[in-house]
Amino acid sequence: MSLIVQKYGGTSVGSPERIQEVAKRVKRWRDKGNNVVVVVSAMSGETNRLIELINATNPTGTAREKDVILSTGEQVTIGLLSLALESIDCSARSYTGSQANIRTDNAFSKARISGIDECKMCDDLEKGYVLVVAGFQGVDNEGNITTLGRGGSDTTAVALAVALKADECQIYTDVDGVYTTDPRVVSNASHIPKMGLEEMLEMASQGSKVLQIRAVEFAYKYNMPIRVLSSFDEGDDGKSTLVTREEDIMEEVLVRGVAFNRDEAQLTVEGVPDQPGVASNILGAISDANIEVDMIVQNVSNEGLTDFTFTVHRNDYDQAKKILCETGKTLGAKACRGDDKIAKISIVGGGMRSHAGVASKMFTALADEGINIRMISTSEIKVSVVVDEKYLELAVRTLHEAFELDTV
Ligand code: ADP
Ligand code: ASP
Ligand code: MG
Repeated sequence: MSLIVQKYGGTSVGSPERIQEVAKRVKRWRDKGNNVVVVVSAMSGETNRLIELINATNPTGTAREKDVILSTGEQVTIGLLSLALESIDCSARSYTGSQANIRTDNAFSKARISGIDECKMCDDLEKGYVLVVAGFQGVDNEGNITTLGRGGSDTTAVALAVALKADECQIYTDVDGVYTTDPRVVSNASHIPKMGLEEMLEMASQGSKVLQIRAVEFAYKYNMPIRVLSSFDEGDDGKSTLVTREEDIMEEVLVRGVAFNRDEAQLTVEGVPDQPGVASNILGAISDANIEVDMIVQNVSNEGLTDFTFTVHRNDYDQAKKILCETGKTLGAKACRGDDKIAKISIVGGGMRSHAGVASKMFTALADEGINIRMISTSEIKVSVVVDEKYLELAVRTLHEAFELDTV
């Protein structure tokens, strides 16, 4: 008997009718003789609604209480899906994150899973129940409810698949797999039937929200293949994407896809002394405030002075700018400024390791469209650029075409 972990995202469970459809699909898998564990998200829009409620009540309130509120969306869906399964004679039992004993650290709103006590659920699995587990939530050592960050149900699913040694981890969403870029932005993006976990990790970390980055990290670490499929397909044999170990992928492509991210903001401090300790002063103050920095660029020094530019998450922009301007003052900086209307576009592909010229082709394609590049960063398998946000769609389409991704 195989054990399948399935995850259904917000749009897949967005209404009672959609939940009934999911129930029918789950029952089909169960009736084929599989043990099935289902992870669900909150109904679409629900987590945003809860965030609005929090912001309308006390936006600067305690993170612990916010997670108590945020975790309720998933609790509704596990109950509804269990009832829907029951109504079609498929025995099911719901589990909240804490009932499933999904243990996390205590970093509220972005907690990391530290372990799962799989035996909590073993009895019910052996009795043949379908287990319906709330995604996006866990419990810390002191019994506090925690949440795993936006998109976190993907991570719950992969972590459960690893803990239960599942045969397959299926992520059902509103697209039938991973595409060469977001099909909402480029309508002729190509479907990718099979791709490497490392490439997916890079795509996710550069902004492709089809899978949460931590889910891919987990899958990569524990070598758990993920299959991405659509819950809107009629049958069970539609298109999908298998994200698996690179060794299992025969061909290596130069550029696999284009990812983008409009969640960042850029900060610059101008005219600081070009001497040891300055970078650590500037970034130390930012990291002391628990703000993560992504790209960093330091200009060539001019008459002993230099400029320092970096990016942070847009949510941290105001706080980071305040800290930077204060640190800048103590360092005698000429100015400090920022811009939160930027976008980061990245091309990702395992083949870049062994091929030169990809970055220059990228820069030429953008220049031909008159798109100015503000920052650049590279890794073994990606090149990222920061541009004005207004160029985001044009830049994504341009790069998709330049690397002929519509014809793969
Ligand atoms: P769910 O609610 O099921 O978790 P998400 O909205 O989190 O769904 O993720 C699915 C969405 O990811 C798609 O609707 C699509 O717009 C977006 N997306 C971004 N990049 C890609 C990509 N490369 N391939 C497929 N979908 C992508
Ligand atoms: N409901 C959460 C969110 O909207 C978690 C998830 O959907 O994965 O981010
Ligand atoms: Mg998601």
